[in-house]
Amino acid sequence: MIKVAVASGNAGKIKEIMALVSSDLRTACSIQDVLGTFPEVIEDGNTFIENAIKKVADLPTLPNVIYLSDDSGLSVDALDGRPGIYSARYGGGNLTNAEQCDLLLKELGTAQNRNAHYTCAIAIKFPSGQVEVAEGHWHGQIGYVLKGTKGFGYDPIFIPAGLEITAAELDPEEKNKISHRHHALSAAKEMILRFCTESV
Ligand code: IMP
Repeated sequence: MIKVAVASGNAGKIKEIMALVSSDLRTACSIQDVLGTFPEVIEDGNTFIENAIKKVADLPTLPNVIYLSDDSGLSVDALDGRPGIYSARYGGGNLTNAEQCDLLLKELGTAQNRNAHYTCAIAIKFPSGQVEVAEGHWHGQIGYVLKGTKGFGYDPIFIPAGLEITAAELDPEEKNKISHRHHALSAAKEMILRFCTESV
């Protein structure tokens, strides 16, 4: 049985990844279950992919263990791509999600161009030590006020392309079918599946 160890401390993320990658060939778990600890990584890469790679690069290779990490954020066109890789720390790191949304709305002001997209980068480290990456995007517009209470982060101000409600008004199951994380995880799943079928 191949173990997919998720390099994240976020229980929600681990659950979502487990649901997508688990099967009779492989099982997903937290990195803590495999290593007994959660290694600290300084996210100082210049791109989502660089940061995702950093989270798995130095982990010890183990037979039958695939490590999986992700890095994600929101890029707003009229703000030259900000907050981007700094999405989690936008506003200095002490703001609540709602305060970060308010700050972004303030910075964007009445800008006509409200195009934005979420990005999710995933890095996978195979037992050979080889690292592969996948990236997913979710395009939309930034609204003018916060709406909805589901989701997290910038979801109350993100209106996905083709919809008239915010990501925070979508049911989690719906969001998980169309989000940036879904797209990146689907590509990652293909890579894991290839590895699992090649190694049986
Ligand atoms: P991380 O990848 O868990 O470090 O997340 C980076 C940050 O990007 C989060 O703290 C959120 O601010 C933002 N973000 C990433 N994905 C989403 C999402 O699906 N909805 C809302 N915000 C998100």
